Amino acid sequence: MHYISTRNKNKLYSLSEALQKGLAEDGGLFIPEYFPKVNLTDYNSQMSYIDFAEKLLQNFFKNDILEKNLREICANAFIFPVKIETIDSNTQMLDLCQGPTLSFKDFGARFLAECLNKISHKNKSTIMVATSGDTGSAVASAFYKKENTQVIVLYPKGKISEKQEKQITCWGKNILSLAVLGTFDDCQRLVKQAFNENWWQNVMNISSANSINIGRLLPQMIYYAYSSFAYFNKNKTSVGFIIPTGNLGNATAAYWAKEMGFPIREISLATNENRVINDYIESGVFSPRKSVLTLANAMDVGNPSNFERLSQLFQDYSIFKKNVSSISVSNVEIKQTIGNFYNNYKRIICPHTATGFFVRKNKSAHSWIVVSTADPCKFDDIIEPIIQEKIPIPEQMQNLLNRESMHWEVKAELSDIEKIAAKYFNI
Ligand SMILES: *Cc1c(COP(=O)(O)O)cnc(C)c1O
Repeated sequence: MHYISTRNKNKLYSLSEALQKGLAEDGGLFIPEYFPKVNLTDYNSQMSYIDFAEKLLQNFFKNDILEKNLREICANAFIFPVKIETIDSNTQMLDLCQGPTLSFKDFGARFLAECLNKISHKNKSTIMVATSGDTGSAVASAFYKKENTQVIVLYPKGKISEKQEKQITCWGKNILSLAVLGTFDDCQRLVKQAFNENWWQNVMNISSANSINIGRLLPQMIYYAYSSFAYFNKNKTSVGFIIPTGNLGNATAAYWAKEMGFPIREISLATNENRVINDYIESGVFSPRKSVLTLANAMDVGNPSNFERLSQLFQDYSIFKKNVSSISVSNVEIKQTIGNFYNNYKRIICPHTATGFFVRKNKSAHSWIVVSTADPCKFDDIIEPIIQEKIPIPEQMQNLLNRESMHWEVKAELSDIEKIAAKYFNI
């Protein structure tokens, strides 16, 4: 299997090259050269998640130096359960928040960390990651104390919840946390900029763990494949997914699983008040803009990077429109959904997951699986006033809260980041 850039089909890369580079030289994102069609009889309902993952990813690892490590990578990365819960007769919830930092980002971050750690390094590589909340903590946790890598996390100061910040800044050692005086889009721009600079390329050996890295997308296909297969086995019909989305990473992975032929009827997206994707579907014009702050802050993205991957899959607008539907959910609707969900089902959902359940309410009687993207305890400041209850704190979170934390503040300028990084990592 080869990988290509979204901007150039002619240059072929191996999987490990694509993993290490993060972004192609031409600025495009890596995608598999093709999507192998799945043979559903290769799978069965007795398979463990790790068996299932290994089977699915075999083709994507073919002829790469990591091929022999695939089993071990899956076994080390997926150390926590994937839960599928029944909400009502035609709605299920895919709970992806049981990992060490309590969001679905743990799947991609842990998988990528295992892969990069296995690829031998001439010198240490530096993972630079921009985060609007959960990526930073998932990446920091996944790479913490991995000898061959150092990590720089950029997050927008004052624009993420206190618990999210704590989860990013509680590591130390090979993890440097920087609070950027700017927005998430500034953080993303800084990462892209660093990729084009000699010092970052040659001295720091920069790589990316953002959802632009193919090593984040591949493992995210698995839970869609796994849960759609389980549903199909049981009900003899295929299911639809509703996916809360911002940067379109998690959603693109679902479309890839569908493209492979897993039994997915349709996919629908839930966005917050950042409407870039909704406006594209309505107008055919993709116009990135500044992100606006919402209650579902991990989805506050004004220029979703993975649009480039998704529009590669659905090459013209009419095909895109036929396959991708999306509803934009306001802050008021998020709050109402959290409240109603608690009253109806006695379950607490996070603001991102709430966008998904709002969309569910507006959909047909067909069966849907709504993706739960983060544990509600990360957003207690938003949720507790609505439900008038204390949110239980899972053990993972308590462990992180007990740690000391440390971060630096930087201007949204690469030169500022360079100075602090050189000092922190003794370069
Ligand atoms: C990252 C994140 C999202 C959005 O995922 P994308 O892959 O960026 O679309 C949604 N919810 C939560 C909790 C997240 O952390």
